Amino acid sequence: MRLSKRAEQLEPSVTLAASAKATALKAKGLDVLSLTVGEPDFATPKNIQKAAIAAIESGKASYYTPSSGIPELKQAVTKYIEQNYGLSYLPKNVIVTDGAKFALYLLFQALLNVGDEVIIPVPYWVSYGEQVKLAEGNPVFISCQQEQNFKVTVEQLEAARTEKTKMMILNSPSNPTGMIYSKEELQAIGDWAVSNNVLIVSDDIYGKLVYNGNQFTPIATVSEEIRKQTIIINGVSKSYAMTGWRIGYAVGDETIIAAMNKIASQSTSNPTAVSQYAAVEALNGNQETIEVMRQAFEERLNTIFPRVAAIPGFKLVKPQGAFYLFPNIKETMELSGYTDVNQWVDDLLEEAHVALVTGAGFGAPEYVRISYATDLDTLEEAISRIEKFVVSKIER
Ligand code: PMP
Ligand code: GLU
Repeated sequence: MRLSKRAEQLEPSVTLAASAKATALKAKGLDVLSLTVGEPDFATPKNIQKAAIAAIESGKASYYTPSSGIPELKQAVTKYIEQNYGLSYLPKNVIVTDGAKFALYLLFQALLNVGDEVIIPVPYWVSYGEQVKLAEGNPVFISCQQEQNFKVTVEQLEAARTEKTKMMILNSPSNPTGMIYSKEELQAIGDWAVSNNVLIVSDDIYGKLVYNGNQFTPIATVSEEIRKQTIIINGVSKSYAMTGWRIGYAVGDETIIAAMNKIASQSTSNPTAVSQYAAVEALNGNQETIEVMRQAFEERLNTIFPRVAAIPGFKLVKPQGAFYLFPNIKETMELSGYTDVNQWVDDLLEEAHVALVTGAGFGAPEYVRISYATDLDTLEEAISRIEKFVVSKIER
């Protein structure tokens, strides 16, 4: 049977593929350290687990829910946005989805016609471009260098703009770079988007994971005009250690949200009921555990950053948020005769049993991504192995 062009042309998620490969090798008994997928190593906090169990035992998690989410959760999202962003929205401005990933998918499906352009700053999170293509839109990539802290400028946006530009994606703190846009930078980008009627897709999923006194400003909070031009994408996966529960959401213009909901109603029907009850507790319940996890990530970052920065030929900027390091390894590769980052990553796995994600999947083939969402002992051991691998390759 011939597959659809859509399926044939789609790239699989490199992050999930790298993680699956590491897991398969571990299952064979190899001592593989996986710094691949962006997934907190912590178990979901107990109060959230208990809320889910209570929802099962009371029977209320047994049924389909409204396709846009249960009213309690939409309420909890509006309250969260009110408290954290200082912005007021109504439940009709919210759709709860199967992870933030599906919120993005629905958004592109709801808004893009054939050939509509979506500006995506590079390095980008792996799924943006592929999801745009699935909706028959055209991703327009703008290359943002390490020297500019990987942040897109208005000049670059303007140079990329055409009559077909419909949206731009902004991911701050960024996966994979960990960079955060300042309020001034957001103001300039937001004003540009408003003047040119470009919708801002603001992926705020790492908004709670910021370190060392850095501040996250959501672009929707910069001005009322910018808020109207923005769809907020967020979810509970990263900050509440709930990746497996699959709950995300989108907040914004009610017509867009309604269109997304129509597509959700004909595809998934609704996000899993029990997960929605768990997410209500995540957003409404005690927030202390998320601060404990944030501090653990901060400690890991501060411990491993100097060691990774000292690996011969690794160049990197200290991340401000999220939980990834994104070193440029061009010099390391040159010193040891590599021309392909994928080969370097494969050899590291094969020879040193450390799994990283190739930068190629993020549009940055001179880079690798190191997730530090794992315990410090594992991180320290993995870095020692990477150091050894790099040195041995250079000396050969
Ligand atoms: N956006 C970014 C930038 C991410 O790193 C992730 C993590 N997979 C997502 C969205 C989607 O997260 P989830 O679907 O687990 O909510
Ligand atoms: N966002 C995570 C990552 O980048 C999860 C994997 C994925 O959804 O692709 O590793």
